Amino acid sequence: MVQTPVCIIGAGPAGLSASLFLSKAGIEHVILDRASFPRDKVCGESFDGKVYHLLNRLDPSWLQELKQSGQLQECRSYSLTNSWGHTLGVDFSADQTPKLHIKRKVFDHFLMEKVQGQQAAKVHQQTNVQQIIQQENGVLVKTDRGDFFTQLLIVSSGANSLIKTFFQPKKQPKNTFLFARGYFRDIQPNTERAELEIFFIRRPFKGCLLLCPLANGETNVEIGMEQKEWKRHGQALEDLLKTACRQPILGRRFEKAHQLTDIKTTAMDLSTARRTYVQNRILLAGAATGSVNPVTGFGVGHAMSMGMLAAQQAAEALEKEDFSAAFLKSYEKKVKAKLRKEIQISHAITRLQKRVDLLEPLIYLMSKGHTLAGILSDKDLVENIFNPQFYWKHWRSAISKKG
Ligand SMILES: Cc1cc2nc3c(=O)[nH]c(=O)nc-3n(C[C@H](O)[C@H](O)[C@H](O)COP(=O)(O)OP(=O)(O)OC[C@H]3O[C@@H](n4cnc5c(N)ncnc54)[C@H](O)[C@@H]3O)c2cc1C
Repeated sequence: MVQTPVCIIGAGPAGLSASLFLSKAGIEHVILDRASFPRDKVCGESFDGKVYHLLNRLDPSWLQELKQSGQLQECRSYSLTNSWGHTLGVDFSADQTPKLHIKRKVFDHFLMEKVQGQQAAKVHQQTNVQQIIQQENGVLVKTDRGDFFTQLLIVSSGANSLIKTFFQPKKQPKNTFLFARGYFRDIQPNTERAELEIFFIRRPFKGCLLLCPLANGETNVEIGMEQKEWKRHGQALEDLLKTACRQPILGRRFEKAHQLTDIKTTAMDLSTARRTYVQNRILLAGAATGSVNPVTGFGVGHAMSMGMLAAQQAAEALEKEDFSAAFLKSYEKKVKAKLRKEIQISHAITRLQKRVDLLEPLIYLMSKGHTLAGILSDKDLVENIFNPQFYWKHWRSAISKKG
């Protein structure tokens, strides 16, 4: 049996960031993942500014390294389009932090290589965790490759891991969404900019379609819908994605496009139920805490932020030799203080996504006025999302410009 002060389950952005911050603090740990890296992951691949800042915090040379590899694209605009063809474009100014577009296979492998370069980290790939047993003096982690015994466990095994059921309230309404993703080349761009495009569509299904431009002229094309909507069609998700790309709203943009890889699918429970992030000797991080809506592009940033906070909490717990849920609760407080508003926005978007009929006129109205585009591109939006004065300020400035 392997004994370790800290054990991390899952080497996605949450687990890898936790590992890198633990290594920075010189804390020995093991990190387990059932996959073998580089591994693919169905994801929208547009990451918010937190990822940029956290990479810089880990090592300022890493962003440069990723840029030089030609695999990273910076993006400062996005658009929302309804099925009537009305588009709301949002541009960020050059001094705002860009969104990063990069394949998850490349990004996670990049971080994994950095983890493997740290003395304090022991990586076990192809190791599937089957059971977690809390004991008085530690946690026993049972895997198909043997047992691990740890003082503190960080569970960062993603949205679909069985392990997360360990933490969930027993009765919880399911809110399952299905997604399909393919990589394409030679899709005709609609602008000269690297822009993330989100379409809310009605045909061939009610849901959304995302075009995320990547480096090397490739585009990540993704569709998402509620499971019950999919059941009404009874068609394979792969076929629905191909049909969605031929909808009139996309014009002739797919005419010369080539599909580069097989279309992959995944499911995600976008439940808005509250969850607890800690138990005795256990911290939960990343998508395992309850999913953020993929459309917001907050997922990877959240996962990395929680990874960092979990590592800091682990350091404090080891120093104080206190692994009780009561002591670890301050981790949950810090996560909520940092990410609460984004989680609330995410939940609001999940609710709206179920009402495409409401979204259609909303996007139409937003596309008609510049005030809302101004609000959406304001760098202080998340901080002020529930502050009426913030909207008042934008409205007044729009009026005075007109005057
Ligand atoms: C369709 C879709 C589109 C998305 N688009 C975006 C986007 O554009 N931008 C964005 O920021 N976020 C997006 N997200 C969300 C993002 O994918 C997640 O928030 C992010 O992956 C969470 O990272 P994580 O480290 O918590 O978990 P994951 O990345 O899921 O990593 C979990 C790891 O745990 C391992 N694991 C699981 N179970 C076990 C086990 N039993 N034993 C050992 N290892 C295990 C897995 O192999 C995996 O490597 C999207 C999600 C979906 C589904």
